[in-house]
Amino acid sequence: MSEANPCIFCEIVARRAPAARVYENEKTLAFLDLFPAATGHTLVIPKLHYRDLFEADRETLPAVVETARCVARALRTALRPDGLGVFQLNGRAAGQTVFHYHIHLIPRNEGESLRLHGREAAGRERLERDARRIAEALETG
Ligand code: 5GP
Ligand code: ZN
Repeated sequence: MSEANPCIFCEIVARRAPAARVYENEKTLAFLDLFPAATGHTLVIPKLHYRDLFEADRETLPAVVETARCVARALRTALRPDGLGVFQLNGRAAGQTVFHYHIHLIPRNEGESLRLHGREAAGRERLERDARRIAEALETG
């Protein structure tokens, strides 16, 4: 990424941009989507910048999937949704809008629309509150 056009997710990793963080380890970070399609909509990313599935390396992907697995369980504990959507988009034509590899975890409830992108930004306080709830569920296993 050039300095003139930094990647927003790399900025979040580096803590130069804010995000409601749920979990992080050496290789991965999970934080709440700013435009949630549902309460608890979480993004799981590698800390290193890969544009998409085609660029991501073989060591990184299992770490991202393992973080997604743990956060998925925490979302289930914290929010008790009817289901959970797991999405990952590659390329503009597929709907990708941020070109740093990420997995969407979207809690789903019966009767709700199946949107992938929310229309409005959530308030910071609400996101921080939701992130704390999910992080607590992660800690308690
Ligand atoms: P994509 O369409 O690339 O699969 O999804 C990118 C996601 O990143 C979207 O759901 C969008 O709402 C989210 N997003 C875009 N900018 C930011 C940001 O600055 N902070 C956070 N937390 N999420 C963002
Ligand atoms: Zn990046």
